[in-house]
Amino acid sequence: MGINAPRGTQDVLPTESYKWQALERLLHEVAALYGFHELRTPTFEQMDLFQRGVGDTTDVVQKEMFEVRAQKGADLFALRPEGTAGAVRAAIENGLLNDALPLKAYYMASCFRHERPQAGRLREFHQFGCELFGAASPAADAEVIAIADHALKMLGLKGIELNLNSIGCPECRRNYYQALRTYFETYTDRLCPTCLVRLEKNPMRLLDCKVPECGEIAKDAPVMLDYLCEDCKTHFESVKSRLYSQGIGFKINPRIVRGLDYYTRTVFEFISTGIGAQGTVCAGGRYDGLVQELGGKPTPGLGFGMGLERVLLLLEEQGIALQEPRQCDLYIGSMGEEANRKACELAASLRREGFWVECDLMARSVKAQMKYANKLGARMSLILGENELQTGKALLKDMESGEQKETAFETELMNLLYDAMLAREADSVAEQIGPDAFKRILGLESQAK
Ligand code: ATP
Ligand code: MG
Repeated sequence: MGINAPRGTQDVLPTESYKWQALERLLHEVAALYGFHELRTPTFEQMDLFQRGVGDTTDVVQKEMFEVRAQKGADLFALRPEGTAGAVRAAIENGLLNDALPLKAYYMASCFRHERPQAGRLREFHQFGCELFGAASPAADAEVIAIADHALKMLGLKGIELNLNSIGCPECRRNYYQALRTYFETYTDRLCPTCLVRLEKNPMRLLDCKVPECGEIAKDAPVMLDYLCEDCKTHFESVKSRLYSQGIGFKINPRIVRGLDYYTRTVFEFISTGIGAQGTVCAGGRYDGLVQELGGKPTPGLGFGMGLERVLLLLEEQGIALQEPRQCDLYIGSMGEEANRKACELAASLRREGFWVECDLMARSVKAQMKYANKLGARMSLILGENELQTGKALLKDMESGEQKETAFETELMNLLYDAMLAREADSVAEQIGPDAFKRILGLESQAK
């Protein structure tokens, strides 16, 4: 019997991985525009980090964690269910918060949660996340939100709404908790058992319950926005006006409370209006108390996590193609051992020049080799046999047009490949920036007029 991948995990196959690579490349580039540098942390951490950092009244910690224990070790670890706690731990441990602030870090990481698998909900999934430490200003909130907005727009995704809320600070939340308790206490006979515990420990969690009946009741619960203190109110107003003036659309959604305990003030989710239950592609917020909670000196922070599987699902749904892998530049077919040797030598030296060149590794017939070259989508091909070895010339074939050109393969091949590459690059630059700008770059402006 074969062994299958664990439920809720995914293989990314060689034919599909270019999509991940293209998406990740774009995210690395966007992060760089905002001065964020990559932070890599371990896949597993002390269990305690997540209990304290994510919060032990959260679903993530109560129900979804993967525990890890070495066969011989006593320590209890967990696979990271999210990226923020590890990032904060690393920032504190490596003294990064003592350096010049703000500290801007991002990660591309797999996360693990034991949930019921469905489209867009996996047990191992991947997040692109940004964290900004040291800045309490609304300008920082707007900048972090702008990164996610920028990335999603650059991908060309449509129908994604930024939902914004403020859940205040511990000060103003005290009154709010009281109001929530008063409200929910009249419904104790209808709330789920978990919510009854939440009512005691962390009443805001009730707003996040996925049980339909609880959701119904939560609909009419008091909203945090009505309980914000003056400082939190001013902060939120400034975040909103900054987003507005930077051209980032949003809507206020008082129902957004986020599933993790550490959030304060601004919280947000980017939600696709198209897809169903798994519509949240990116979520985050401010967590001014977290660094201190995890043993660092009081340092404000905020960030977000973007679910890459969900982004890829949306791209697919909206028919948006990601940059495809490069094409094979040249297939060198061969007849016989000696010709194959020469083909492999040519391939080796052309690869060193940066071309993707293939030759036969299967001792197949020329016909079968050409079929394979077609399947690869090779742009050009060349066949070497006894005759070609003797004359040093072979027919270089453009696989698309069928055009053939006699070529001294030892000396001319490289230049021909370069020319073809340059022509393609010119085309693609013209496509990207538009023909007029392209003409200007080439100094053709005056001629065009
Ligand atoms: P949800 O309400 O969908 O369970 P969440 O509030 O638990 O999301 P966060 O902890 O905020 O999610 O994680 C940030 C992002 O990571 C989510 O917006 C989503 O895009 C993605 N994500 C979270 N859990 C999963 C999962 N099990 N599978 C795939 N992506 C996920
Ligand atoms: Mg969840």
